[in-house]
Amino acid sequence: MTVSRSSPIWRPFTQHALQKDAILVARGEGAWLETADGRRILDAISSWWVITHGHRHPRIVQAIKDQADRLDQLIFAGFTHEPAELLARRLVALTPAGLDHVFYSDSGSTSVEVAIKMALGFFRNRGERRARVLALEHGYHGDTIGAMSTGARSVFNAAYEPLLFDVTRIPFPRGVGQATLDALEAACRSGDAAAFVVEPLVLGAGGMLVYGADILREMKRICAAHGVLFVADEVMTGFGRTGTLFACEQAGVVPDIACYAKGITGGSLPLAVTMCRAEIFDAHYSTDRARTFFHSSSFTANPIACAAALANLDIWESEDVRGRVTRLCAMQEERLARFANDARFSDMRRIGTIAALDLRVADSGYLATIGPTLHEFFVARGLLLRPLGNTIYVLPPYCVEGHELDAIYDAIAEAADRYA
Ligand SMILES: *Cc1c(COP(=O)(O)O)cnc(C)c1O
Repeated sequence: MTVSRSSPIWRPFTQHALQKDAILVARGEGAWLETADGRRILDAISSWWVITHGHRHPRIVQAIKDQADRLDQLIFAGFTHEPAELLARRLVALTPAGLDHVFYSDSGSTSVEVAIKMALGFFRNRGERRARVLALEHGYHGDTIGAMSTGARSVFNAAYEPLLFDVTRIPFPRGVGQATLDALEAACRSGDAAAFVVEPLVLGAGGMLVYGADILREMKRICAAHGVLFVADEVMTGFGRTGTLFACEQAGVVPDIACYAKGITGGSLPLAVTMCRAEIFDAHYSTDRARTFFHSSSFTANPIACAAALANLDIWESEDVRGRVTRLCAMQEERLARFANDARFSDMRRIGTIAALDLRVADSGYLATIGPTLHEFFVARGLLLRPLGNTIYVLPPYCVEGHELDAIYDAIAEAADRYA
C-alpha cells in the first residue's frame, strides 16, 4: 500500500516530482517492517542508521511506557530528572575516559552545532582568537546551517552556500594518509584553528568511505600538539556500528568533544548528547553570566528519550550485544567475499557491521538515477536498501540473521545482473 500524492507531507531528501508514493508502514519488529497491507520489508539500513538492536526491543518499549507514566517532559534549566542524571553518569563511565560533561539535545545535527559552539566558546572565554573550523573532505555532519557548513559542499547545500561559513577542508585519507596528515598539520599551525570535526573511521553520507585507526590516532595527535580541539562526530558510528561501542576506541583516541545520537536510544526516540572534557566546561564556568554556554532546545534531555537510552545501555550490559556485533561483522565479511572477483563491483569495504561496495555503472554519483532505481529494485524484493548513488551499503540492525543477509546479497547480485 502506498500513500499517494495527495499527502500534504513534504519529505526529507525527496524529489516529489520523481518519487510520488511513500510506503505505508504499520509495524516494526526486530529487523523487519510490516506494511499496512501486510507486506514484510527487511530493514537493511536500520531505518536510516538509527536502529541498533532491532525495532521495538521489549526492554526499550517497556522503559518508554514506564517513563511516560511518570514524567513526560520537563524544563531542563534549574530542574532535572532521574533518567537524565543516571544517563549522564553512565555515559561518562562508558565513553572514552576524560569525556566528563554531557550536554543534551535532540538530533545529530544539533549535537554538532553544540560541539562547534562549545569549541568557539572555549577559546573566546580563554581570550584566544581562534574560530576556524577544520573538517574532512566528503564529511557529513547534518543539515542545519553550522553542520552543513562543516560538511562537504555539494548539490545538497548549493542553494544555502551564501549562508555557510568558511571551513578548512582536509583531504580524505587515501593509503597511509600522509597528504591528509600534512594538510591537517599545516591547518593546525595557522594559529586560528579552533576545532577539527571528523567522523571517526567511516564517512557515512559521504559514501561509506573508510580509513584506518592509525590515521585517526595521528589526526588526534596533531590536533593535540597544536591545541586544536578534536571533535569526533560519532552520530552514526556510535553504539556498535563499527564493531566497537565507539569508533574512537579502535584508535585509543579520547576526543575533546564527542557527538552521539542515532543509536543512543537504540534508535527508538530522538536524543543526542555532546560530551566534552572538563577543560571545556571549566572555560564556561564563571560568576560572569556572559561566559554562559548559551544553547538550549525545548526538548533538551526529554525524560522519555532518556529512559529509552538507559534501557539501551541496560541491553548493552545485560545481553551479549558485543557477541552479536562480532558475529555480524564476520557474516558481513563472508557475504561480501562472494563479490571479491566480480568485475561489476569495485571498492568492496567493511568497517564493523557496515559493508559497502560500488556498482560499476556509466552514470554514478548521488544524483545519478541509479540510486533511486536500485532502491526501487530492492524494495520490490522486500528489502530496504537505499544506495548512495552507485554505492550499495548494508547497515542492518544487530539482530539480523545469516539467512536474511543472504537474501540481501542475493538481491545485490541480481541487481548487478540487471544494471551493471
Ligand atoms: C546522521 C548524521 C548526522 C545528523 O544527525 P541527525 O540526527 O539526522 O540530525 C550528523 N553526523 C553524522 C556522522 C551522521 O551520520
